[in-house]
Amino acid sequence: MKPALLVVDMLEEFVHGRLKSPQAEAIVPAVRRLVEEAHASGVPVIHTVDSHLPFDYELKIWRPHALKGSPQAKIISELTPGEKDLVFEKRFYSGFRDTGLDAALRDLGVDTLIVAGIHTHICVLHTVMDAFYHRYKTYVVRNAVAAFSRQDHEYALKYMEQVYGARIIGLEDAVGILRRGSGS
Ligand code: ZN
Repeated sequence: MKPALLVVDMLEEFVHGRLKSPQAEAIVPAVRRLVEEAHASGVPVIHTVDSHLPFDYELKIWRPHALKGSPQAKIISELTPGEKDLVFEKRFYSGFRDTGLDAALRDLGVDTLIVAGIHTHICVLHTVMDAFYHRYKTYVVRNAVAAFSRQDHEYALKYMEQVYGARIIGLEDAVGILRRGSGS
């Protein structure tokens, strides 16, 4: 198994901005812990981030947010990417759509994704769906993903488990996988 840590949309917009939620803020320490463990174990850390153009189709639903180049589209300071971390900008929910993420994961030899970030029922869900289509084994860290409501969060976790075969795991289990890193 060769894992990568995939951090979804931990942006100013969703943690402190117009689309903020207390749930998003609450997972910051858990996501940070995962990033630190990944760094310590030499596991690739990959951010997929909204970076919208003003005419993006998705904005018809969510109104303008995380516009490319704006302060709101910045990764929060607690998770500022390190030199070796990768950042893929996206214009839809899924981190795989028109981003080159799949090719990069294949070049890295990654076959397993550990997913953290926001929102459980939107960008996390659609990224996990595409990970399934691309045949990655996927773990979703229950207490390192968040949605606007507990109901959306729980429903999405169940859906990803039942429909895409994602394993829903706790923080310590995720840390264990990261520590085993690329060695197993
Ligand atoms: Zn968006």
